Amino acid sequence: MGDGSVYDTLISGGHLLTMAGEGAGFVADGAVGVEGGKIVAVGPRAVVEGNATARRTIDATGRLVMPGLIDAHLHSASVIGRGWAQEVQPWMASAYGPLMAHAADADAPIATLWALMEGVANGTTTFGDYDAPMEALVHSHVRLGNRAVVCGGISELNWANRAAWLADGWTPGDPTPLDRAHGEAALAAELDLHERWHGHDGGRISVILGPHAADFLSGELLVRAAGEARRRGISMHLHVAQDVRENEATLRRAGLRAIPYLDSLGLLGPDLIAVHLSTATPDEVALVAARGARMVCCANSIGIIDGVVPPVAAFQAAGGLVGLGSDQAPGNNSHNIFAEMRAVAMFAKIAAGSPLPMPAWRVVRMATIEGARVLGIGDRVGSLEEGKEADLILLDLDRPPLAPALLRPARNLVPNLVYAESGRNVRLSMVAGEVIYADGEFLRVDRTEALADLTAAAIRLQNAADADPTLSGLPIVELTRSGRI
Ligand SMILES: [Zn+2]
Repeated sequence: MGDGSVYDTLISGGHLLTMAGEGAGFVADGAVGVEGGKIVAVGPRAVVEGNATARRTIDATGRLVMPGLIDAHLHSASVIGRGWAQEVQPWMASAYGPLMAHAADADAPIATLWALMEGVANGTTTFGDYDAPMEALVHSHVRLGNRAVVCGGISELNWANRAAWLADGWTPGDPTPLDRAHGEAALAAELDLHERWHGHDGGRISVILGPHAADFLSGELLVRAAGEARRRGISMHLHVAQDVRENEATLRRAGLRAIPYLDSLGLLGPDLIAVHLSTATPDEVALVAARGARMVCCANSIGIIDGVVPPVAAFQAAGGLVGLGSDQAPGNNSHNIFAEMRAVAMFAKIAAGSPLPMPAWRVVRMATIEGARVLGIGDRVGSLEEGKEADLILLDLDRPPLAPALLRPARNLVPNLVYAESGRNVRLSMVAGEVIYADGEFLRVDRTEALADLTAAAIRLQNAADADPTLSGLPIVELTRSGRI
């Protein structure tokens, strides 16, 4: 620029972390020019401003400007049961499933909006949302104005049949019986969702397929889902080797652990987003990476619900690409990628007994450009580069823990972001050139109204669960009755 051009928006005066190149891409006293929702100029302020003018200028003095964070895996509607499924084994069958079965589909869009608001307020601009009924939930993404890569999930596990399983002698930890009609309906809904929503809202909404897990679908349905994804050129978002339950079920079904089983079905490939890998052996981790699949690490969720450090370092050492996810609030309590950055860095160091693994600059890349590549949108977002969508955030450098900002001879911005920032210093979030959050307020959504809707939905959930006699004996219900929590 500098040739008399006019920007729609000029963000001027702060330091930049662009994520261009191999590291964090620091630019002192930088600026970003935005036109038509895209970044058209980025670099030192004097160069970007040149003799160009702007219709609107955002003063970024005392701010850090960086790409919006990528939450590559979450179940947004589950936020309605925040904190309800922890400190039990097996987690899903002993708490999450039976309690969350009472969450009403009609209330799910209210919960999703609340989860997205939490994420946006903490710097997330793109959500890899895996939840149902996505046909209804996607409206909450469009309403808030964030970017999303969504799927509704394909599963033959039907929690509505739990009473019948119990009557048949099923106990938590046993393989869950499969309901073929339930899975077929979910696959049809996914294909319909893709048909109607992929590319919606100027490309802010992308749709991929989400077969749930190796043991929650029959082999035939897994293969069909993969075929449908490949025909459409879209990714699959799949929980892989999340816990021992999955390996035990596939061993019984096919004589193979989950990852060799998925490989035997042809599911491990570059179009696979493999979430968790918690129980993968070193050889299995290497196999998934060698097949070109991408990984999402949900460090806090898996730490809390399983007590496991996912094999991020091994996956990266094998050449694999890793993004970060907040997963689900019943087990993780929050949708905050700053919390995930700190956890993935800390857990890797603790697991290794060394401060050297998982350096902060690498973690910031996982939360931005690498997370975008994991979701298949790295050519459009994840870094501040000319031609990319203007998805970015501004953080306040004048408050703890980012102040003092030291630049010479060593910069402290990236370490402070990873080891101390909580998200409370996020001052502005922009998606495709549109400001959707600034100074604590959402531009498109009334926070008071959203909270009133959420509170009413939470009361309905409590009433429904409280009336279910089969929940007696669940650990968290008994802890509540005893007054311990
Ligand atoms: Zn998940």
